[in-house]
Amino acid sequence: MNDYKCPQCKAYLNVSNNVIFAAEKDDGTKGLILLHPEIGNFESDQHEKFVIGEGEKVEFKCPACNANLKAPKARNLAKIEAVSEDNKVFEVYFSRIKGEKSTYTLEGESVEIYGEHSENYKDYFELGNIGLMK
Ligand SMILES: [Zn+2]
Repeated sequence: MNDYKCPQCKAYLNVSNNVIFAAEKDDGTKGLILLHPEIGNFESDQHEKFVIGEGEKVEFKCPACNANLKAPKARNLAKIEAVSEDNKVFEVYFSRIKGEKSTYTLEGESVEIYGEHSENYKDYFELGNIGLMK
């Protein structure tokens, strides 16, 4: 399984089988969000009273240093670092909108895209001719 790191403070964000984020909703409510560590698996979990509605956008922050993980220029995406089991370092971009299934991995010039809504940001990655991989 990949390791995931904060781009700012380099803290490991994965614990057991979760990638852990501090999150904040538009109304200022804060909580923790657990994402699945397998890229392309869009399961997520949070406290039953920290309710995020379908289509709602949340801020993803590093639980260690509180850095906002918003991707530069693509305001609906969050960006973190990843290290594969064979020590390849790459970037992972994922949607901050609940229910929007779009994740991208970027290693050098190479982009892989995951999720049924990933077309939404293809311009950002200049993906004109690259098809859906998963
Ligand atoms: Zn951090």
